Amino acid sequence: MGLVVGREDALRPAGPRAETVCRCIIPGCPVPASQCEVHHVTEHSRGGPTHTDNGVLLCWHHHHRLDTSGWEIQMRHGRPYVKAPEWVDRRRIYRPVRNHARDKPLRARST
Ligand SMILES: [Zn+2]
Repeated sequence: MGLVVGREDALRPAGPRAETVCRCIIPGCPVPASQCEVHHVTEHSRGGPTHTDNGVLLCWHHHHRLDTSGWEIQMRHGRPYVKAPEWVDRRRIYRPVRNHARDKPLRARST
């Protein structure tokens, strides 16, 4: 009988740094993409598109508490920016997400 090998493995990004590149977009959150949910930054019910330019990865914890946690997310030209709650960042400014899947230079950098 043949084996069905690692279907889940095939879905994971390749490479040792992949887990740090694709994970929950909240800074410091270690939850990998495989355990995240897609959050539509502009809700579909408010006219937000469902394509990937409007979607970010959030772990269950950050996704379901987004409305009350103080974290805020914006999309700017298809790139997510995150504003931390005041207890994390007193200046409360939007900062680009560094671990977004679009940050391919992180993996390709060779100096
Ligand atoms: Zn998270």
